[in-house]
Amino acid sequence: MVMRPHHLLCTQGYSGKGYSPEFVRNMDHWVERLRNREGFRVRITFSTDSLCSSCPHKQGEGLCDDDDKVLVYDRKITEYFHLEEKEYVYQDLIRQIDAQMTPEMLQDICGNCSWYPVSACRKNILGK
Ligand code: SF4
Repeated sequence: MVMRPHHLLCTQGYSGKGYSPEFVRNMDHWVERLRNREGFRVRITFSTDSLCSSCPHKQGEGLCDDDDKVLVYDRKITEYFHLEEKEYVYQDLIRQIDAQMTPEMLQDICGNCSWYPVSACRKNILGK
């Protein structure tokens, strides 16, 4: 699976809602694997990914109609956690990120996302 950096957070907060039925089906498919399969690997990409592939906002390879916002989310989480375009074991990386994440960092990365107030991001990432 290919994953852009900020989706390391979305896949934790996801609670079954999304941009379209096809998007939700694709999210369900990947999130089930990410959360339940120990050792499942993801390759980080600084572009559109396996979740974008079913999203109505995707305009083309590497192009989202919300790039103004999502490229900033990608840049911030990449800088905070020194992410690289390479393979990681998803759950190992999530454990590392969640152990270091503070409420201020999460607010800085995700504060203007419309899903942030309504999804389980804070609870699942910060444990509160
Ligand atoms: S295309 Fe844009 S809005 Fe859709 S999942 Fe990818 S980053 Fe998110």
